[in-house]
Amino acid sequence: MIEIQKLNKWFDDFHVLTDITETIEKGQTVVVCGPSGSGKSTLLRCINGLEPFQKGEIVVDGKSLSDPKVNLYKLRESIGMVFQRFELYPHMTALKNIALAPMKVRRWPRKKAEEKAMLLLERVGMPDKAHAYPANLSGGQQQRVAIARSLAMEPKYMLFDEPTSALDPEMIKEVLDVMVDLAREGMTMVCVTHEMGFAREVADEIIFMDHGKIVERGTFETFFNNPKTDRAKEFLSQIL
Ligand code: ADP
Ligand code: MG
Repeated sequence: MIEIQKLNKWFDDFHVLTDITETIEKGQTVVVCGPSGSGKSTLLRCINGLEPFQKGEIVVDGKSLSDPKVNLYKLRESIGMVFQRFELYPHMTALKNIALAPMKVRRWPRKKAEEKAMLLLERVGMPDKAHAYPANLSGGQQQRVAIARSLAMEPKYMLFDEPTSALDPEMIKEVLDVMVDLAREGMTMVCVTHEMGFAREVADEIIFMDHGKIVERGTFETFFNNPKTDRAKEFLSQIL
């Protein structure tokens, strides 16, 4: 489980995150939304130990990220991250992109890593694309390979940062379908997304951020049907 307590972060004197408190229980899917610049990506990067923060605490599986004894590299191995832009290695096939980290980091033999990669390609619905290079895959296919590549490290948590916002509309669903499956299989996920259909299907909680603060939280129904703040109402009217 991930526990965030009164997290505060500044970029120099810019207060980017203010008093963020949130608990993500095992198996839960939390959707984070909010206007551009509200601090969503920064929050994910803090959870992943990629960004330092100045006040408050983030505890993952009982280990505080601020504890100098905690190995952030080890911790990051348990957290998969998928970004808006799928950064696949262009000179490697889909299969090799997925098999790489288990071979390098886990020292799995090639055969074992590629067998696992093949299973993951089946899971994201692309067994026929194992030997295709990224340039020959659509954006949606590339993003599904990126998800499979994260899953290859057998993470306990998955963080998604607007994974469909760079995709053409017809490719969004194939990526969201993979994420819905993952959520239903019990993966613990934090998803920054404005896809309210996805949120309705799988979000245990929605958080709405504005100017670095959580200004609303609740179930999909309470947030979507009955937003309390003007800021959330305005935001919802813009994305619909
Ligand atoms: P979101 O993902 O919600 O669009 P971000 O977390 O990317 O928001 O950014 C929040 C704010 O922090 C923005 O105003 C952005 O310009 C600023 N910011 C992000 N990264 C940095 C950085 N490395 N240095 C300074 N300011 C940053
Ligand atoms: Mg962002």
